[in-house]
Parts: sequence; structure tokens; C-alpha cells
Amino acid sequence: MSKNKMSNISFDNTEIAFKAKSMSDLQKSYWLFKLVGNNFLVKLGPALLNIAFFLRLPIKSLIKNTIFEQFCGGESIKDCEKRIQSLARYNVNTILDYSVEGSSNKENFDLTASEIIRTIERAKDDENIPFAVFKTSGLARIELLEKISTNSTLKEKEKIEFELLKDRVKLICQKAYDLEVRIFIDAEESWIQNAIDDLATSMMRIYNTEKAIVYNTLQMYRWDRISFLKQSYADAENGNYYLGLKIVRGAYMEKERERAAELGYSSPIQKDKESCDKDYDLALAYCINHIDKIAICAGTHNEKSSLKLIDLMRENNILKDDNRVYFSQLLGMSDHISFNLANEGYNVVKYMPYGPVKLVMPYLIRRAQENTSISGQTGRELSLIIKERNRRAI
Ligand SMILES: Cc1cc2nc3c(=O)[nH]c(=O)nc-3n(C[C@H](O)[C@H](O)[C@H](O)COP(=O)(O)OP(=O)(O)OC[C@H]3O[C@@H](n4cnc5c(N)ncnc54)[C@H](O)[C@@H]3O)c2cc1C
Repeated sequence: MSKNKMSNISFDNTEIAFKAKSMSDLQKSYWLFKLVGNNFLVKLGPALLNIAFFLRLPIKSLIKNTIFEQFCGGESIKDCEKRIQSLARYNVNTILDYSVEGSSNKENFDLTASEIIRTIERAKDDENIPFAVFKTSGLARIELLEKISTNSTLKEKEKIEFELLKDRVKLICQKAYDLEVRIFIDAEESWIQNAIDDLATSMMRIYNTEKAIVYNTLQMYRWDRISFLKQSYADAENGNYYLGLKIVRGAYMEKERERAAELGYSSPIQKDKESCDKDYDLALAYCINHIDKIAICAGTHNEKSSLKLIDLMRENNILKDDNRVYFSQLLGMSDHISFNLANEGYNVVKYMPYGPVKLVMPYLIRRAQENTSISGQTGRELSLIIKERNRRAI
């Protein structure tokens, strides 16, 4: 269902959806989604890429002109400028997302923190870049985050590491506050999420006293997030600060289930997709009902949930461009949602991942996996591209 009787917006309008794409761009996207729709190739891809990088085969330009171009803005902030302007022409905003993953030493954590600060500086006073974002795992070791999350006793060296992590997070949030750029803290695997939630809450307590600057992220594929949402709201009420929340379904479902089965604990993931969808929409409704205190961003490619939020906004007399409500999709995905919403006057912002090709590979592999024919996104993307190609041909 891409249109419902309550909302008069249609996500099927491919003319609006692909306005920014030339015919050859469309053709390229078509072949790319065809390719990532191949389960066999996507399964084998990561291993083949590792071998190719190891053998120093000249594959960088192949990746750069295909999957990287579809899902990333470039290798640096400067590289992203063209894409930022191209989206802005259609009222689609940008979040610069430095997507380098898997670092494990202090030097890299400091470099990542500096780069995130550069994204905040770039966003300052630019209405086309209303948010910045970071992943806590880019600023500290996973093992450390896991120990903090489980309240394990930290060794002296780890206590210092933890202090350094808090300093980095504080530096980033302080910069965001000073330059008035809102900042998302991404949600990650459940076994490190307690540490992230605690850091996010402590930052909101400091920086959200006048409005939401720092946003935590809720993954609604977890069955405990509705109660966490209510607790977060109560904490914000008691602490007298605003709650900033990005609401997503969650990106690590298979990994979560596998780990829970392997280690023999009960999975934090909902029993089925239906329960996840139900909680997602419940969370949207809860936030909209408390909009005086909560600012939200719906990070989703789900059409029904996007329509649900539109309806909730209308029912609660919230203006389409109210600063407290944003819709967000990833670059290269679900342009039919982003561009049609922006065309109707809603606040839309695209995550624009960037970074050196080799270092953003984990991100790109996740996108390819999400777009295999199993998960179903490809079918929708392809059918829309074909529809637009036919429309233009006529
Ligand atoms: C702007 C933006 C920001 C994001 N930020 C984050 C982030 O910080 N952290 C993060 O983890 N992810 C993040 N994501 C990814 C997001 O969590 C989803 O993986 C992705 O968007 C797909 O969900 P959907 O709502 O778009 O659509 P849908 O296609 O409707 O939902 C697919 C999702 O539903 C859930 N699901 C599928 N099957 C089941 C099942 N059987 N049982 C329970 N749940 C199921 C999974 O989460 C799956 O990814 C972000 C996505 C966007 C667009």
C-alpha cells in the first residue's frame, strides 16, 4: 500500500521521485539494484572484495563508479558538495555521515572525532544540513563499550579509555550545541547499547535544556524499546530537558539473533516483523502525543510508517515543516519517499555517508545485504525505476 485514504500523498509519483536523476543515472541504478538483488553475489561479495583488496587489484574505481556512487556522497566532505546541492534543489536536506567503521586504536578514535566535528562545522548556518551524526563505536573499542554496558569492573587502563570516550562525546556535543547543529547518536548492537544510551542521556541532560540538540536512537525491533521510550520521557520530564529521538527499526537483526542463540540468552529482537512494525508506529504516536517535550526523526524506508507519521501530524495540528518532526532516508534508497515528502513540504533529510572507499566497505556491504531479493527492498526500487524509465520513454 503506497497510498491511504487519510493521506493524500502518493509515493508512486516517480517523476518527482527521480527528478534529480538523468536517464543514464537511472540506468546505472537499475543495473546496480539488479546486481545487489542477486543473493549469491551479495553473499560472496565481501569475501571477493577482501581478496581483491589483498591482491591489490585495481577495483577501487569500479566500486567508486557503482555501489559507492549510489550510496555515498564521496570520499571527503568536499566531494559531497555536489550531491548536497543537488538534493537541496528539491528541498531534500543532508546529514554528513562519516561512515568509517572498525577502528580500534586511540589515534583513529581521535581522528574520527575530529572528522565529526568538521561535519558539524560544515553544517553550521546551512539550512540544507540540519543535523550531524556519529556512531559511538567509531570513538571507542567495542570491547570497552560492552564492558560498560554490562557494568563489568573496568581495569585502570580501561577507566582511562572510558574517560577519553566521554571527552570525545562531550567535545562533539558541545560543538553541536555551540554551532546550533542538532546531532544524532546512532543506535548499535544491543550488547553495547546500554553504554550508548547512558552517554546519550547524559548529553541530552546537559545540552537539551532549551530545545533538542542531541538525539538518541531507538531501535523498535527490540521488544523493550517502548518501555525504554516511556522511561526516557519520564527522565526528561524529571530532569527538565527535551528529548531528541531518532526512531528506526534496527539494522543488526540477524547478528542479534545469532549471538543470542550462540550464547544462550533470550533474543532482544521482537518475535516477528508485525510486532516490530506495531511498536514502530506506537513509538511515533507516543512521540507525537508528547511533541511539546520530544523532537523526532523517523529514519525509515517504510511507506506505511511514513504515512502514519503524516496522519499523526495532521491529527495533532502539527505543521508539515515543524522543526520537531523530520523524515529521513539513506542516500541512494527510497528516493520515492524522500522526494515526494519534500515536494509536499515535509522536513526530509538524507544520510549522506562518506569516507575513503576501502574504509566504508562495511557500510556498503550492509546496504547491499539489505537490498538483496530476500529482504525485498530491491523489488520496490527496481519497479519504481522501471516505471520512471517507461514514463520518460513515452
Ligand atoms: C535515516 C536512517 C537512519 C538509521 N539509523 C540507524 C541506527 O542508528 N541504528 C540502526 O540499527 N539502524 C539504523 N537505520 C537502519 C534501520 O534500522 C533499518 O534497518 C532500515 O531502515 C530498514 O527498516 P525500515 O523501517 O526502513 O523498513 P522495513 O523494510 O519495513 O523494515 C525492515 C526492518 O524490520 C525489522 N524486521 C524485519 N524482519 C523482522 C522480524 N522477523 N522480526 C523483527 N523485526 C524484523 C528489521 O529491523 C529490518 O531491518 C537507519 C535507517 C535510516 C533510514
